[in-house]
Amino acid sequence: MADDIRAILLDIEGTTTPIAFVYDVLFPYARAHLREYLRDRPDRSVIDLLKQEWADDASAAPAPAATAPELVTYVESLMDRDRKSPGLKQLQGLVWERGYRDGLLKGDVFVDVRPALERWHKRGIKVAIYSSGSALAQRLLFSTTAFGDLTTLLSGFFDTSSGVKTSSESYRRIAAVIGCSTAQLLFVSDVAAELDAARSAGCQVVLCVRPGNAAQRVSADVRVVHTFDEIH
Ligand SMILES: [Mg+2]
Repeated sequence: MADDIRAILLDIEGTTTPIAFVYDVLFPYARAHLREYLRDRPDRSVIDLLKQEWADDASAAPAPAATAPELVTYVESLMDRDRKSPGLKQLQGLVWERGYRDGLLKGDVFVDVRPALERWHKRGIKVAIYSSGSALAQRLLFSTTAFGDLTTLLSGFFDTSSGVKTSSESYRRIAAVIGCSTAQLLFVSDVAAELDAARSAGCQVVLCVRPGNAAQRVSADVRVVHTFDEIH
């Protein structure tokens, strides 16, 4: 790693965590427990946010007076379309929160993640997460891993409220919050389009190739790693 790196920004799915955990564990869990969550004691602000999104969603059937069962159907349609809607992300975070607290869900990270976080932490490098999952969902994932609570080694959790991952502006914003320049920020991700955006913002980038990841096309000068052991 270059000496001028002050902070590392990590993607989750396909980088710290197997993509299969998200698609085979988290998403099915949210879908299976959604109805029960909305029936029991839903958070009012997320319900209002979803209703507003529904009213603004031109691709969905209009539903001005959405009732709870209708809202379930709408949320399921968002999941079917893999929409990264803020309301859906927040709702999923709340459903997962219950699962993590009940011990039914445990965050999955690759075996090299904890040693790397400790190594970087010791060197005084700040490590933050940037994922399209909500900041709450990120905290829950990293606090319940088989390697213990990793949130003490992390100094920030950024989600789409900082902007989308394919926009350069998001990386400028995040660097400013972390308190370093984009040139001092190393972004690690499994998706070439995200690395391109970070690079145009001036960040240093590394492509992470994990088992189960989709093949990516990156320019020849982008560094590729298979585990965090390679990032010293
Ligand atoms: Mg990813």
